[in-house]
Amino acid sequence: MSALTSGLSSGLVNGVASAIASQFSGGLDAKVLVLNRFYSAIRVIDARRAFVLLAKEIAEVIAVEDGSYVSYPLSTWTELSEFRREFESTQHDWVRTARVTIAVPKIVRVLCYDRLPREQVKLNRRNIYARDGSLCQYCGKSFATKELTLDHIKPRVQGGGNSWTNLVCACVKCNARKGGRTPEQAGMRLIRLPAKPKRNPAISIRLGSPKYESWRAFLDEAYWTVELSD
Ligand SMILES: [Zn+2]
Repeated sequence: MSALTSGLSSGLVNGVASAIASQFSGGLDAKVLVLNRFYSAIRVIDARRAFVLLAKEIAEVIAVEDGSYVSYPLSTWTELSEFRREFESTQHDWVRTARVTIAVPKIVRVLCYDRLPREQVKLNRRNIYARDGSLCQYCGKSFATKELTLDHIKPRVQGGGNSWTNLVCACVKCNARKGGRTPEQAGMRLIRLPAKPKRNPAISIRLGSPKYESWRAFLDEAYWTVELSD
């Protein structure tokens, strides 16, 4: 590592660290797709963590240019960010440090490890909605997020807990009709049995955004092999 790169890297780590505590956290929350060294998608992380991996030279940036994928070390990516800022400012999220403004890469490739440690898919509202495709799991109709509720299949009053197999999306109407009863007791039927997702459902949601279009090739190719969870 050259002195320049080394200085730049430690400067970036410090810059990123101070940005975390400052007003520039917007760009640091942008999502970055992580590939392993075999170009398989393994994880989505935030830009904050991606910059740490890049600054430590654990990862390199993968960028799409004229339909091809090009890799850059952080130092080169930082220099190119000047150009991107001028011509592609709206296509990127940005992180500012004291010295430079850097485009948040959309994809990084981890060079050293075959994969990062596995991450559990978090049991949260967003992931349950994503798993169920925003469909009420009783009437099967599609609803806007704000019109959906989380239903405990076995109600809490009957001892049902929070789990992937006991929580489903339900529209307000179906949830009210079911009340504090099991589907059997209410004479209702689930359109499918809920299960824990094999991969982070947030990935398929984000692909809806043109900003993450460059992920598509890796995700399509790795669709069945992406390991984001158990
Ligand atoms: Zn419904």
